[in-house]
Amino acid sequence: TPSLEVRRLAYAYPDGTQALFGVDFTIGRGERVALLGPNGAGKTTLVMHLNGILAAGHGTVAVAGLPVAKDSLREIRRRVGLVFQDPDDQLFMPTVREDVAFGPANLGIGGEELQRRVKDALDQVGMLEAVDRPPHHLSFGQRRRVAVATVLAMEPEILVLDEPSSNLDPASRRELADILRSLDVTVLMVTHDLPYALELCDRALVLSGGVIAADGPTRDILADA
Ligand code: ADP
Ligand code: ADP
Repeated sequence: TPSLEVRRLAYAYPDGTQALFGVDFTIGRGERVALLGPNGAGKTTLVMHLNGILAAGHGTVAVAGLPVAKDSLREIRRRVGLVFQDPDDQLFMPTVREDVAFGPANLGIGGEELQRRVKDALDQVGMLEAVDRPPHHLSFGQRRRVAVATVLAMEPEILVLDEPSSNLDPASRRELADILRSLDVTVLMVTHDLPYALELCDRALVLSGGVIAADGPTRDILADA
């Protein structure tokens, strides 16, 4: 079963703006895919369908075979880990530990399993030493890594990142790239950072005017751009 299947997805906002016109693609387990496209192309609208913030006007979205629907939202939100562009939208607890524990604790996970998840998630992003620190004492790059950990602690099927390289200095950029490459999870990243897409993603989707205008090896797509 692929991690993500989007079939004939179309969506119009309540004001009538048609943002998606029949989007089709599949992402296999373990793939790292870049979602490219100009402002207004529909990238945010598409991402909001992946975890059911928006409900498909037409078509379907399925995550590891489970269709996104009203009665599956709890499980879908566990399977789809969204990392926002601004880490401060994701970190709101007094310590890193509590932020990373928040999601799994909400699923009813506690005790040693919760401790293991917090430790594993922070270890994967190289932030274990910060476990007892307040997030606001960390650098921006470190906060973005902790934001990724809060999502990894849910053990998602797919990690969806919005502009992961934005506002990072060169060293933090490189650290995050190494982390994303080392993760054993399917990744979809929305980005305008073409070098980052090329470095991290074998495959790119180009969304333009609400349709998939290209889908193929990132190198070929950037060569054509
Ligand atoms: P992107 O993320 O690629 O910049 P969006 O998904 O934000 O694109 O936008 C796709 C289209 O939908 C654009 O025409 C945008 O103006 C429109 N749009 C986005 N959000 C809304 C909204 N809440 N109401 C009406 N139109 C919207
Ligand atoms: P992005 O950085 O992802 O491209 P945008 O700048 O397109 O985001 O959109 C930022 C916010 O504004 C989103 O929540 C989007 O839904 C909303 N938005 C974008 N276009 C419109 C629109 N035409 N009408 C109402 N809201 C919009």
